[in-house]
Formats: sequence, C-alpha cells, structure tokens
Amino acid sequence: MPGRLQNKVALVTGAGSGIGLESSILFASEGANVLLVDINLNNAQKGAAIIAERYPNVKALATKADVGKEVDVKAAVEKAVKEFGRLDVMVKKILHLLCISLFVDSNFPSQFNNAGIMHPEDDNALNTEERIWDLTMQINLKGVWWGCKYAITAMRENPTDESKGLHVGGSIINTASFVALMGAATPQLAYTASKGGVLAMTRELAIVHAREGIRINSLCPGPLKTPLLMDFLNTEEKRQRRLVHLPMGRFGEAVELAKAALFLASDESSYVTGADFTVDGGLSSAYVTPV
Ligand code: NAD
Repeated sequence: MPGRLQNKVALVTGAGSGIGLESSILFASEGANVLLVDINLNNAQKGAAIIAERYPNVKALATKADVGKEVDVKAAVEKAVKEFGRLDVMVKKILHLLCISLFVDSNFPSQFNNAGIMHPEDDNALNTEERIWDLTMQINLKGVWWGCKYAITAMRENPTDESKGLHVGGSIINTASFVALMGAATPQLAYTASKGGVLAMTRELAIVHAREGIRINSLCPGPLKTPLLMDFLNTEEKRQRRLVHLPMGRFGEAVELAKAALFLASDESSYVTGADFTVDGGLSSAYVTPV
C-alpha cells in the first residue's frame, strides 16, 4: 500500500520536539522525505535518526534554522528543494519521456510552519516587556510569514500535472493555537496576539493562492503534554487550573496533532483551505465541563 505522502517532500519546523517531531515521524511513515528544521540541531538530528532507523525507504535530513531569521528560513526551504525536490523533478522528467505518468505528485508539496515559543516572562498588558513581545512576534508570527513566503515561492516552481492540466501546488500548514480562538484569564498576551496573527494571515494567504493549487490552513492545538506547555505548567496547581476546563479531562498528545497535520498535508484534504483546523479535545466548544 503506498503511503499517504508517498514520494512527497515535507519540511517541518520545530521538528526537534513535540508536534513537529511526531509529525516528521508520521509523515515519513507515510512515505515522505522529510527535512527536520529546528533551532536545536541536536534534537532535529535525533528525529532524523529515528526516521532513518524505522523507515529506511525514505530520506530524512536535519538542518539548523532560527525561524525568527528570514535568511535561515529561506536557506531551509532551498535546502529542501535542493536535497529532495530537484531529484524528484528529474525522476518525473525521465518517466515522462518514457510516457509513464506515475509521479504526478509535486516535488515540494508540504510545509509545516510549526515552530513557536511561549516565553515565561510573557504576561498581561501591564507587565509584558516590549522585548518579550518583539521576540514572540519575531518567531511565532514573522517566522510563519517567512515560512509561507518561501514555501509559496518554491511551490510555484512545481511542474504541471499533465493528466489534469493543472499546476501542482502544495499544502502549507501553520500552527496557531486555541488561544487564537478564546481568551484566558492566565494571560500570555504576546503569545495570544501572535497566534491570532497566524490565524488571520493564514486565511488571507489561503484565498490569495487558492487558484495556484496551494492550500494553506491553520492548525489550532488545544493544551498539549509537550515541553512547551509542561515546562510552563510546572506545578500541580497550575496544571489543575487548566485541566478543569478540558472536557476530556486530559491534555492532548503531540501525536494527536501530528495525525491532523498529516490529513492537512495529504491529498485527503484536497478541498480544505483557509480552515482554522481545531484539535482541542472540545475545549473551544465548552461552557461547563463534566465533573
Ligand atoms: P515544543 O516545545 O515541544 O517544540 C517546539 C520546537 O520548536 C522545539 O524543538 C524548539 O527547539 C523549536 N523552536 C523554538 N524556537 C525556534 C526557532 N526560533 N526556530 C526554529 N525552531 C524553534 O512545542 P510544541 O508543543 O510541539 O509546539 C509546537 C507548536 O504548537 C508551537 O507553535 C506552539 O505555539 C503550538 N502550540 C502548542 C500548544 C501546547 O500546548 N503545547 C498548544 C497550542 C499551540
């Protein structure tokens, strides 16, 4: 059985931990060649090593990039195209010459702009310092903008699917958050504003690029059992303050978000664009939760 991302290329940021790591592994298990991008190269390399051991038929590479720096994001996308994309195009050209239209997948079909930070000094309007606000926006919002900018540039270079007469675009997934949908009395103002920006920006980009075959969706996770949140909720009291509001009575797992990202990355979501794809255990639908 071919995988859902067979012969495709995926770039994942924040791939050294949590959602990004689980998504990289899951994408590889479905046949994708994956570029794992993280500011922490060591962790990204560990992820690539896991993939190499479990799925020897696909390629996984790790690269260091700070998504808060445009030059790094550009270099990461160019590396994905150089390492995986061009080769696929050449394979396609040879097959095309042989009149075999087996590979109609795009050479660079999915990019998961997932890296983000939640700064411990992020607070309410009065206490949040400008440097914390700026750093959060730089990584969480500008980083996603640059991810989209260079993914769109690369996806425009994709070939035309001769059988359909359509330009093959790709799928871009931007990680937002449930805090972009609902307010919390435990403020992290810069983080919340950055994620609201991701949501609004993603919708607009989805509409602008819809006719190029480039689908762009937001993923809105609920609170998860990953280092990002668990390092922050470092006491039982802090965890309980959140858990009481979660209808399922538990935090989500990174792999539960990876499965949603896989759907958005694959052709199974071919008519989904501009969505605020929420995976939050019912949190944003809840008023009074079960006891
Ligand atoms: P995580 O901390 O487990 O992983 C985040 C990864 O991003 C880390 O490997 C880290 O090194 C990397 N990273 C941080 N800054 C970076 C930078 N400037 N450049 C490149 N890589 C960088 O976190 P996670 O829970 O997997 O979070 C992933 C995304 O999901 C984030 O955007 C986060 O805001 C969002 N999110 C998380 C939760 C949650 O509860 N964990 C909820 C909603 C949204």
